[in-house]
Amino acid sequence: MIKIKLSVDEIVMILKNLEINSLTQILKYTDSIRQKNCEIDYFIEQCSNEVCPDCKQVCCINRHGIDGYHDIIFKLITGIVPITADLMINYDAPCQYLSEKGCILKRYDRPYRCTWFFCSETLRYFESGNQRKYRDMTTKIAEIGQLRIVVEEQLILSVVKS
Ligand code: SF4
Ligand code: SF4
Repeated sequence: MIKIKLSVDEIVMILKNLEINSLTQILKYTDSIRQKNCEIDYFIEQCSNEVCPDCKQVCCINRHGIDGYHDIIFKLITGIVPITADLMINYDAPCQYLSEKGCILKRYDRPYRCTWFFCSETLRYFESGNQRKYRDMTTKIAEIGQLRIVVEEQLILSVVKS
């Protein structure tokens, strides 16, 4: 794994000067990430709809709903405007994207941690349900994580090669 941490400005500059072949390759990976997100969404939503309404300690608080470094980089690459966060908000208050019907953001637009985090209640739900679907979901989440790393590596390699 390549360990170079680019700044947001550097990423923007690289994207502006990217060769068409490199860009095409990177967009192929991001399409795959989008597809996998869509495929797991229904299964996770089913669980949230069952388990979350009775929750006494909702995990969707502001500190979890703010994009991390890799989320920002990924969103710059894919053309999604990174989530703008009011840094003066109360980090422990309910997430600004949480509505009565759950998260208002599409799964693809949420910070990555919002997709891979499962509390003990949700894990219990999954473990007592359809195991094939559960395995498929965890595999896809791992693949999404891996593909995000590959996308960043491709970006760095395209600069090194030029
Ligand atoms: S995922 Fe777990 S902790 Fe978060 S709201 Fe649902 S039940 Fe509560
Ligand atoms: S899933 Fe949505 S509402 Fe929950 S923490 Fe993430 S961004 Fe906020």
